[in-house]
Amino acid sequence: MAASDSFETRLFINGEFRPSRDNKLFRVNNPTTGEIIAQDHLTSPVHEASEGDVDDAVAAAKAAFPTWRDLSPAERGGYLRRFADLLLEAHETLAQIEAVSSGKPVSQFFESFVAADFFRYFSEAGWNAQGTTSLHTRDHLNLSLRAPYGVVACITPWNLPILLFAYKVAPALAAGNTVVHKSSEKSPLAATFLATLVAKAGFPSGVLNMISGYGSPAGSSLASHLQVRCLSFTGSPQTGQKIQAAAAASNMKHVHLELGGKSPSLVFHDADIQAAAEQTATSLTFLSGQSCIANSRIYIQDSVADEFIALFKSAFSSARAGNPLDAAVSRGPQIDEQQHDRIKSYIEIGQRDGTLTLGGGSGPGLFIEPTVIEDITETSPLMQEEVFGPVVAINRFHTEAEAINYANQSEFGLYASVFTRDLDRAVRVSKLLEAGTVAVNCTSPTMAMDMPFGGYKTSGVGREGYLHSLDNFLETKSILMRI
Ligand code: NAD
Repeated sequence: MAASDSFETRLFINGEFRPSRDNKLFRVNNPTTGEIIAQDHLTSPVHEASEGDVDDAVAAAKAAFPTWRDLSPAERGGYLRRFADLLLEAHETLAQIEAVSSGKPVSQFFESFVAADFFRYFSEAGWNAQGTTSLHTRDHLNLSLRAPYGVVACITPWNLPILLFAYKVAPALAAGNTVVHKSSEKSPLAATFLATLVAKAGFPSGVLNMISGYGSPAGSSLASHLQVRCLSFTGSPQTGQKIQAAAAASNMKHVHLELGGKSPSLVFHDADIQAAAEQTATSLTFLSGQSCIANSRIYIQDSVADEFIALFKSAFSSARAGNPLDAAVSRGPQIDEQQHDRIKSYIEIGQRDGTLTLGGGSGPGLFIEPTVIEDITETSPLMQEEVFGPVVAINRFHTEAEAINYANQSEFGLYASVFTRDLDRAVRVSKLLEAGTVAVNCTSPTMAMDMPFGGYKTSGVGREGYLHSLDNFLETKSILMRI
């Protein structure tokens, strides 16, 4: 990072940077070294939004709404395209910010590319906000219109702060809404750097307001705010429940929730066992297991279990750990001490309810070894709760029906994988798995951005992904015209 790349760490409200009303500041640690980040332009502590700041941001978004709504999709698209270009120009800086503040290896950093794709796509897709017409009622021409909600709140988690910002904010703006985006208290640096890019892109004042803050007061104030008409959230199910309750208790705002996962991989005897082992291992190594779609449960058919487990362990333990700034490193630390300790407690549970056969240790600092627990009871919290770390549970099955039954014995339903060379089996099993996405002969982080993405059961409400996302940010109105 060049010293000249200085950027703001204040809140971005109504087109200008300003300090937090309560003068509260975050300190950001480097999870690899444990040091408070204090190099070049990263010396400024980040400002934390208070309830008053949320009110100001919402008021700015509300004031900006009529003008933004009345721009044509092409005019709005111009701003989105400019922002996409700025994201690409900032790729190196964003990669380094994420490496030093979140422990994400630069070798795996891709978020700015996907985020730029999203902004580019939605710079055109605003034209798709169209309704329907009907002549089916006698003496009437009936129309339905799609219209923006007004002020939209977007709340994102720390693990993919740039990608998930784009996933929500690009379609919300393209649909004609104005936005207040709140980033996670655990990843404020990437979000404040994005605010610098928002300022450079020259969006009209108040159209896109960027605040960093804790769940309470900043997040909860947005969830219960009477002027916010739609809220799109990605994070844990626990927070999703609070947001849904706050939304219902305040003004029934439209809520869209992308929540956690406990994604199973089913590996059948007729699969390419080597490929299945390598891919499932990568899924767990990616972001050090801090991914909502990591295949944290693997079910392996008993006849090939020993072969698969040996190959899996070899692939899982081969990821090179080290400083995420080093391009040869593919495994970084966990984001913070709280997350590290939480994962350790699940490893202890795994040792109690199953057999530890790889890893289990931690250090230096916040690194956790790739860990395998085998033959674990299905009711164990390790099988039922999201660990969000490099820990996998591997159980064996005998029949296809048994495997499907195990996979579906979870409150989560975000993502699942099936490895088999039998096409009939692939289709049959995919249809029965309770998951929003099923990957056949591949696994996470593979995603298709143009497909609906979201969760069954406790993994969420609604779907995102290109045009599905646009739909989340549009109201529908029917107009009945007597002719
Ligand atoms: P989290 O729920 O703790 O926090 C997410 C966001 O919600 C943060 O910005 C936080 O400040 C805010 N928040 C917390 N309490 C709030 C409240 N009461 N009201 C409003 N906002 C509040 O989640 P996290 O630890 O940041 O992220 C990890 C979780 O996110 C995991 O469960 C993971 O599976 C999930 N996730 C899901 C997806 C998906 O697409 N389904 C993608 C990435 C992460």
